[in-house]
Formats: sequence, structure tokens, C-alpha cells
Amino acid sequence: MVALNQKKELNCYIGIDLGGTYIKYGLMSEDGEIIEKGKVSTPAGCGYMETVESIASAVRGIAEHGASVCGLGIGAPGVADGEKGIVRTSGNLGWENKPLAEDLSKRLGIPVTLANDANAAAFGEYACGAGSEYKSVVLITLGTGIGSGIVIDGKLFEGNRGAGAELGHETIRFGGEKCTCGRRGCLETYASATALIRQTKRAMEKDKQSILWRLCGGDIGSVNGKTAFDGAQSGDKTAKRVVNNYLRYLSEGLANIANAFRPEAILIGGGISAQGESLTKPLQKRVDKLMLGHGRYAPVKIKAASLGNDAGLVGAAMLAKERERR
Ligand code: ZN
Repeated sequence: MVALNQKKELNCYIGIDLGGTYIKYGLMSEDGEIIEKGKVSTPAGCGYMETVESIASAVRGIAEHGASVCGLGIGAPGVADGEKGIVRTSGNLGWENKPLAEDLSKRLGIPVTLANDANAAAFGEYACGAGSEYKSVVLITLGTGIGSGIVIDGKLFEGNRGAGAELGHETIRFGGEKCTCGRRGCLETYASATALIRQTKRAMEKDKQSILWRLCGGDIGSVNGKTAFDGAQSGDKTAKRVVNNYLRYLSEGLANIANAFRPEAILIGGGISAQGESLTKPLQKRVDKLMLGHGRYAPVKIKAASLGNDAGLVGAAMLAKERERR
């Protein structure tokens, strides 16, 4: 343990959620409470050395507040090789083979742990959020794409060199819509928030009478991930059909995940998870029907994630704590 400041004997960990727009940071107690959090802008163009300096100065800023910082965890977008502490490749940041953990550890004099951001978020939900009552959970985050992370028996499963756990790229429709990864029919192209918005817009084009038009003020460009759910709630047939199809796609993916890992729970994160039970209840019903054994034996609970945007930094800090113990 390296104390940056010895005023108080409070053992803490700092978690960083590194994104293309913001560097979010949080100071966490060892029992998983957020003591302080904040964010700074990621340097323009995400230049590597500038970003390293920005993270280091954010960490120094928090550490000055009197906590003994035992470790730093970072969740980064892209393929993060946790064992070597290297960001192998990140499309979002434009980085290739950057030794982020070592560069920060040298500057700060504390151990630094690295993970993919979606994996860190899954560990956060497992350690401190909606998954804290389980040993094995999978987090699926429905956003621009689909982020995913797998925790099995309390350990983060990252695959070889941190390149695994990409559940958004499981095919649910052979020869289906083209995905950003180059394949066709990936779960991400049918069940991300972006996909739902696309499906909502297509349905609106075919039904000019749908309430969906009123819900977005006549401007199809302002459709968001909530529009179809709101329309369905008010009984609109077209909106109901959009939501129904979306849940069908998503449940196919979740049933595959249930069959592959049989976690105790699959947690749904991202803005769409704000739909709560109107999302998780029908999903549970469908997944129970689809997965092997129909959920009678070894059920899989479908649940909304609870940490929201903090999941990544919470998980990064808790990973730093967990890896320090090894
Ligand atoms: Zn794909």
C-alpha cells in the first residue's frame, strides 16, 4: 500500500471510467461506498500522453483529500489486456498497444489495474449493485452498441488477453442486418438502443397515424429509446409491435447467454433499463421459455442494473481492490 496522504487511515481505491468524451473518476472506500466522484473532459483527440497526464492529475487531486489510496482501477473502451495492463486496441480512443497501467503506476506510485469498460461495469454491479446477492452474473448494457461483462463465481471472465465477453456480437439472425464488426445478424444490430430507435423509425414510416409521431413532436429525428415504450404504454398498436419485436430479439440473445453461462442473474443496463419491470417481466417470461430446461431448474433472474453511469468506475475501483489481494 502506498499512502499518498497519511492524514486519515482510510483505505480507499480510485476507479476511472475512461471514455472518448469524459474521464469519470470516483474515490471508493474498501467496502464499496463512493466517497467522492467527478469527471474531466478527455483531452481533444484522445492523445495518449495527454490522457495519461489528465488521469494522473485527477487522481492526485482526489488523493489530496486525505485518503490512503491503495490502488487505482481503470475501465477503458476496447480490448484491455488486464494481465499486462495494456490497452491492445481501442477504436474510441484511437490507441494501439498502450501500456496504460505501467505509465500511470510510474507517475502515481500505486498499483494500477486495467480492464475493458463494460467488464469493469459488470464487476461493479456484481460487487456493489444489482448483482451483489449473486456469485455469477452477466451484465448487458443496451446503448449505442451492446456492452457486456461476465462474472463467474466472483471472478471477472475476460477471455484470452481480455478480448472475450463480447456478447453483443453473438449472431441471433443468420444473414441478418450488417453489424459494425463486419458480420451479419449480431445481437447488437437488433437489441442495442440504436437498433430500437432504427426499428421505431421504420415502423413510423409505415404508419403515419401512429401515436409515435405525436410522442416525438412530429420530428422523426427526435425518436429515442423511450419513444416506442411510451407508445406501447398508451396502447398504440404499431408501438406495441415495435416493443414486442425488440423484446423477441433481446430475449433470443439472453437465452443464449443463459445457456452458455447459466449465471444466477442477467442484469440489463443502459437507458432502456429505466423501463424497469415493463422490460424485465416480459423478458423473464420469454427467456424462461427459450432457455434449456425452461428455467425450472437453475433459474436465471432477469433484473435491471442499479448503478447507472457509476457502474464502470465502481467496478474499476473494486477490481483494483480484488487484484491487490491476489
Ligand atoms: Zn457484430
